[in-house]
Amino acid sequence: MIVRSVNLETVCGVTSVLPKNEKPEIAFAGKSNVGKSSLINALMNRKSYARTSAQPGKTQTINFYNISEEIYFVDLPGYGYAKVSLEAKAKWGKLIEKYLRSSDQLKAVFLLIDIRHEPSENDRHMYDWILNQGYDPIIIATKADKLKRSQLQKHVKMIKTGLNVVPGTVVIPFSSLSKQGKDEIMAIIDQILAG
Ligand code: GDP
Repeated sequence: MIVRSVNLETVCGVTSVLPKNEKPEIAFAGKSNVGKSSLINALMNRKSYARTSAQPGKTQTINFYNISEEIYFVDLPGYGYAKVSLEAKAKWGKLIEKYLRSSDQLKAVFLLIDIRHEPSENDRHMYDWILNQGYDPIIIATKADKLKRSQLQKHVKMIKTGLNVVPGTVVIPFSSLSKQGKDEIMAIIDQILAG
């Protein structure tokens, strides 16, 4: 996929009607601060187009980025931000659930996990939840530059075990600084586009 244009086309809050897009969608989920905006910006070849977490967890919206009129990147709101009220968390859950259930075009869900840490309970819930909605999450292990290369595989294994992933699940170490892993992710997106 060549990124010719990027357009933040739709922003949906809890009460919004979700768009009925006609192009394939790929969604990105993960804990606040995991590096989701940085990943999306890297894939779009933009420095700071997707929101970055000046106020982590505050933006409870689903953002649809139209990439070259070819595909949508769907930025799901980050979870696990402690200061968000229970009521806000419940609304957040409903919003994501509504999206995962109702999208006709969602082809794949990327779940981002910080490569340094064991997946949290929230990460495990999110993984199981995506699985229960009928999608096999592709795992992106973010901030790979924070580890020595020799440590990467050990941490990939830790993430697989921590999430209790289904056999064959792909875990891709990624760094938005070095762009390690970007080609692999783009190859997966190309496969998805090829149907
Ligand atoms: P989001 O809340 O998931 O959208 O996370 P952001 O993309 O805004 O990133 C959160 C913080 O982690 C920021 O300070 C980023 O600069 C930093 N960050 C994101 N990706 C990486 C990475 O690959 N390597 C390193 N070292 N820092 C990163």
